[in-house]
Amino acid sequence: MPVHKHDVVIVGSGLAGLRTAVEAVGSADVALISKVFPTRSHSGAAQGGIAAAIGNEEPDSWEWHMFDTVKGGDYLTDQDAAEVLARDGPRAVYELEHMGVPFNRTPEGRIAQRAFGGHTRDYGKAAVKRACYAADRTGRVILDTLYGQAVRKGIRVYAELSIVDLIFRDGRAAGLVAYDLATGELHLFHCRLLLLATGGFGKVYKTTSNCFANTGDGVYLAYRAGLPLEDMEFVQFHPTGIHGLGVLISEAARGEGGILRNRDGERFMERYAPTIKDLAARDVVSRAIMQEIQEGRGIDGQDIVHLDLTHLGKDRLAERLSDISSFVRIYLGIDPASEPIPVHPTCHYMMGGIPTDVDGRVLGKDLQPVTGLFAAGECACVSVHGANRLGCNSLLDLVVFGRRAGKKMLAQLPNVPWPQLPRDAGDAVRERIERLKGRSSGERVHGLRRELQQVMMERCAVFRREADLRQALEDIRALQARCRDGLYLNYRGERFNTDLLEALELESLLGLAETIVLSALKRTESRGAHWREDFPDRDDQRWLKHTLVALEDGEPAIFYRPVTVTRFEPKPRVY
Ligand SMILES: Cc1cc2nc3c(=O)[nH]c(=O)nc-3n(C[C@H](O)[C@H](O)[C@H](O)COP(=O)(O)OP(=O)(O)OC[C@H]3O[C@@H](n4cnc5c(N)ncnc54)[C@H](O)[C@@H]3O)c2cc1C
Repeated sequence: MPVHKHDVVIVGSGLAGLRTAVEAVGSADVALISKVFPTRSHSGAAQGGIAAAIGNEEPDSWEWHMFDTVKGGDYLTDQDAAEVLARDGPRAVYELEHMGVPFNRTPEGRIAQRAFGGHTRDYGKAAVKRACYAADRTGRVILDTLYGQAVRKGIRVYAELSIVDLIFRDGRAAGLVAYDLATGELHLFHCRLLLLATGGFGKVYKTTSNCFANTGDGVYLAYRAGLPLEDMEFVQFHPTGIHGLGVLISEAARGEGGILRNRDGERFMERYAPTIKDLAARDVVSRAIMQEIQEGRGIDGQDIVHLDLTHLGKDRLAERLSDISSFVRIYLGIDPASEPIPVHPTCHYMMGGIPTDVDGRVLGKDLQPVTGLFAAGECACVSVHGANRLGCNSLLDLVVFGRRAGKKMLAQLPNVPWPQLPRDAGDAVRERIERLKGRSSGERVHGLRRELQQVMMERCAVFRREADLRQALEDIRALQARCRDGLYLNYRGERFNTDLLEALELESLLGLAETIVLSALKRTESRGAHWREDFPDRDDQRWLKHTLVALEDGEPAIFYRPVTVTRFEPKPRVY
């Protein structure tokens, strides 16, 4: 097995991985490993913008941004982390500008900003323009810019290598095993410091805005290695996915003035969020859409509502929302300038993940940093997003906490000796692959995956109930057993064996689905994106705490940790 030695190994080349790498490279030898070519990471699909209280279009302040983030997270947000995020926002955006990101401009030439869900002024009084953007391809331009910086700084990139095991030695991270899609070979990576930036796992659900690579491998491998996962029950459904496909229509469409309407043409958000209406937090809008549909006010009796952009005019759509307009034309054959778009909530973002401190250090079961291991981006839970993330706060999270993790790694490096690699590193993966390839009949990956995605969609999506969650848990465990004992590969060759890769990913999806459902089952209250029909109230007395789930003797066990409250005492959440 080829062995690669680097001081720092970063897994994932979305914005979190790239931003960390660019910071950590200094005197260290840094390598990036990515399952897809770096610029194909899901960050490149981010449309709407990056939030920062630079106040270019309207008065703004980092305190208002922090307040909105905490309220948006339904007070589950750790407020020390939210303060870091909001305070650092303006610096982070100007830094991106200086690196070369082509943001849209105001007529005076300053960075333009637009409104986004849950971002307000004066602590909730009115919507504020806080999202810095580049048309509706903000993630694309930031990803390309940061990739350019990574190339310029000589960071070694291993593309289309998928990590399949993490290696620990004497309680510290020592390296990993990766599978090379092009050759079918396993590679061993040996490092002093390791950072996971493997993104989200929307592929657990049938309808999602996420790309195919978002299967949560890094998060699952950390969990399998015995580390805890935090707040897994909080899964964000974005209100406006293209009906039937889940492809995202950015909140920027509502930020630019788009309106949601029901069967009667009514702007129904006026009833659910009288102050900021269509720009309420995403969990609120997604529930409102589902309620309209359940009460029979969907369009033509179907499970859809309309997103109306017709009043914005052709020119504004072309200038500010051009990619979205073309998605709608391509996928639905509709011109958004003349017809409303049929939409339905789509699984979008994972608030939970690998617990870290504000410097990206991964926390173990004892809530102390695990030596040598870091995480950043959507795979991590800092936790700035609490029970529901605000739009445009993810891109900010990636660059703010990616940079901090990079700085911390660089500072630690001189004192970190090379760990030993165990002699049997890679053996377990090799055996797993041989077992999979050895089977000559059984069930195919895509059938099992589809069943899982259907179970999660039906039983653990926007609305949840105990009976459904119990059934989901049973179904997932049955699927896990079928996956373990009977998965069969159609193609058993070495080169570009995507069948094998998907089989390995399926294990991640199943393991993570189990943690989502179990955490959701235990939390008998409604908060942010976790809405229990059988417990419709938020219960701060019992539940103002983070869920942690970790394997104990091979079984998932749940425990809790307190939320950090600094400036804003929990209040009822009204928009
Ligand atoms: C359609 C869409 C639009 C969005 N719009 C916005 C927006 O406007 N504003 C905003 O703030 N947020 C937005 N978001 C959310 C935001 O884009 C994501 O949360 C963010 O990009 C995640 O970045 P990341 O760096 O953590 O991971 P990603 O960009 O998802 O990258 C993950 C990386 O991990 C690698 N990886 C995964 N598994 C493995 C493995 N096994 N081995 C090796 N590498 C692996 C992948 O190759 C990839 O490079 C949007 C999300 C979507 C889906």
